[in-house]
Amino acid sequence: MTVYLDKNENAFDIPENVKYEFMEYIKKTNLNRYPEKGLPSLLEKIGDFSGFNDENIIVGNGSDELLNILINQAKGDILINTPTFEMYNFYANNYGYNTVNVPLKSDFSLDTENIINKNNIKLIIICSPNNPTGNLIDMGQVEQILELGIPTILDNAYYEFSGEDYTDLLNKYDNLIILRTFSKAFSMAGLRIGYGIANKNVISNIKKLQAPFYMNVLSAKLAEIMIDNYSTVQEHVKYIINERERFYNAVKEIAYDSKANFLFLKKDLYSYMEKHDIIIRKLPLLKDRSRITVGKKEENDIAIDAIKEYISKNL
Ligand code: PMP
Repeated sequence: MTVYLDKNENAFDIPENVKYEFMEYIKKTNLNRYPEKGLPSLLEKIGDFSGFNDENIIVGNGSDELLNILINQAKGDILINTPTFEMYNFYANNYGYNTVNVPLKSDFSLDTENIINKNNIKLIIICSPNNPTGNLIDMGQVEQILELGIPTILDNAYYEFSGEDYTDLLNKYDNLIILRTFSKAFSMAGLRIGYGIANKNVISNIKKLQAPFYMNVLSAKLAEIMIDNYSTVQEHVKYIINERERFYNAVKEIAYDSKANFLFLKKDLYSYMEKHDIIIRKLPLLKDRSRITVGKKEENDIAIDAIKEYISKNL
């Protein structure tokens, strides 16, 4: 049986009791009707849950939708730090904007000096924990960048696995928007829900760029039910963090430490792992690297055995 550890999905599906509650909701919902404009009940729920007002929250069809909108409205050069999430470049290219790349340093920290020296940047995107390297970006470095006053996205998709919370920075910096998602810790990649937290003026300006019925009622409702079941999310996150540490310790000759639900590998093991029926992420822009998602224990065991065999034969 093929093991899929390529997309940083959650190893666990949403729990059965949540699915039943969801089915009950579907039975009594008129799907011929449009969603309530702006999905106020979901915004309020996410606001309460994350400690903000609903006017500080924007929800999107995956955080991808919010990235798309934010990049579109930059209308100029966008600064990124490679290696990082490839969709930033994808959207920038779609809109014909230039990406100014200031590569991460060899320890994957931000090259703040070089970032500060760039001119005419309309939007900065920082990914933390960074995909694919897995490390957190230092809070002090993020703050140094925010001091520039340039609109800045902190893509925090792997927040729940990381132990670092950047939301205090929102009290001080109006140019910051933090993006999070239900796709990873919440096991809802198939439902497509992401959200942003920022100053209320920033949020109301972005909302103007969003279609009125941007999301379907079913995804919205399931997100609400999952927030009510947050203890299950926490259990799954704890499991994955434990597995991540076990996985890393077993293969550390070839992997970097990670604060997300994946490991960045020092070799391109894509073809080797494929021969073992394990699908990992090939990184076309990084010839000699690859990325593997932390799965369930039994999946990780298979992957660890294969990587250990690789290490013993090749290193
Ligand atoms: N940001 C990062 C860093 C990601 O890795 C991903 C998903 N792979 C996303 C954003 C997009 O997430 P979503 O499913 O919410 O669109």
